[in-house]
Amino acid sequence: MRGILRSSGLSLSWGFLRRNNPLGSCLCYSKADMSAVAKARRLEGVDKNIWVEFVKLASTYKTVNLGQGFPNFPPPDFVREAFVEAISSNDTMIHQYTRAFGHPSLVTILAKFFGKLLGRELDPLTNVLVTVGAYQALFSCFQALVDDGDEVIIIEPFFDCYELMTEMAGGIPVFVPLQPKAAADGKLMSSGDWQLDPEELAAKFTKRTKAIVLNSPNNPLGKVFSRKELELIARLCVQHNVLCFSDEVYEWLVYDGNKHIRIASLPGMWERTVTIGSAGKTFSATGWKVGWALGPDELLTHLRTVHQNSVYHCATAAQVAVARALQIEYERLEKPESYFVQLPKELQQKRDQLVNCLSAVGMKPVVPEGTYFMMVDLSDFDAPLPDLQDSEEPYDFRFVKWMIKNKGLAAIPVSAFYSTPQKKNFDHFIRFCFAKENATLEAAAAILQQWSEMKPAQ
Ligand code: PMP
Ligand code: GLN
Repeated sequence: MRGILRSSGLSLSWGFLRRNNPLGSCLCYSKADMSAVAKARRLEGVDKNIWVEFVKLASTYKTVNLGQGFPNFPPPDFVREAFVEAISSNDTMIHQYTRAFGHPSLVTILAKFFGKLLGRELDPLTNVLVTVGAYQALFSCFQALVDDGDEVIIIEPFFDCYELMTEMAGGIPVFVPLQPKAAADGKLMSSGDWQLDPEELAAKFTKRTKAIVLNSPNNPLGKVFSRKELELIARLCVQHNVLCFSDEVYEWLVYDGNKHIRIASLPGMWERTVTIGSAGKTFSATGWKVGWALGPDELLTHLRTVHQNSVYHCATAAQVAVARALQIEYERLEKPESYFVQLPKELQQKRDQLVNCLSAVGMKPVVPEGTYFMMVDLSDFDAPLPDLQDSEEPYDFRFVKWMIKNKGLAAIPVSAFYSTPQKKNFDHFIRFCFAKENATLEAAAAILQQWSEMKPAQ
């Protein structure tokens, strides 16, 4: 802090005030005053955070937690063993700093693995950056590549940080919605029924557009973008010379024979795409906070500048463990014993279990094609509820808060994943996470069942 009292219009340093304060040695500012003086302008409007608020709520009350997205089952044995092996190694350097942009063994296997998936040779030293989770890869993208006044196209519903990170970089978010189409008669809606209007999307690309954020499979909807949809986005990016930040943290979590397509593999896209991944999501170990960014050197060089001047590098032992786990998966890629084949199979069963339970109580699930999230329409849910209408807060926020406190079941309100003008249109949806032990899903089902069987209050 430079110590200038900007808000008062005075240009007095703290040192001057301390020396010349007529009140004596004590400068009596309240906590609130100090906070207002200290806050940098780039934090304007980004100080509230859905995760901080709802993680706290879910832990304050005794809940069955289908809120924040993390598995409550353990990572597979080979992944845990890789970590134990890493920290028990005789190489004492495992406990020290390593290469800033990624430990050699991790960038090597990431280049080999994703080189194969993308169908191009990747240079471990220039096309791969290891980050503190996908969050830091995203943050580095926005800080490195978005300038004041640049427009960034965000497809909604969107993982909330895209809007906030755009704003922190001085950019302007430009939203384009996935429009729900009615499901076929008697069928549940699928995330695939939510689609972009090609003309509306094309109209968002202007001379000021710097980047589009793509998240497939999408959090919170679970949509897996089809090749045709990705080709449309790619064509517009190439035509308007726009970058693509492709958040693919749920790349392995696709169901019903759907296929995850990497937009960087489409013609003209490699040179303008940063692909973002997460070991936390890949290996069911969200607390490890190892992520990566893949892309051309011309873009990654700027992400490296942000990285070297902020976190510098991430935990060496965690990187070594992720490298080992990826090596094991590389050797059995697409084979039935692969974790990347096993995990989606297990999650698809959990998804179906939750779909059945929600349908039975009158909550309408949007069946996700991917991720471990499910959006649920509350419009026809008629279990007894007090009147939640008399507040400024969106309905889904009030509903989830009430459910946490009174029913002991946690979810996330979906309007948190929408821009301000759209929030009211989607505040009758909530999001459940189904990457949970069967006992947890059964406990949630029991709560919903009991609740739906209660008589309405007279
Ligand atoms: N992108 C999406 C779409 C997410 O849901 C999350 C949450 N895990 C992240 C990025 C951040 O991932 P990480 O935990 O690896 O930082
Ligand atoms: N990505 C996770 C989710 O969507 C968690 C995000 C967080 O806790 N910040 O639930």
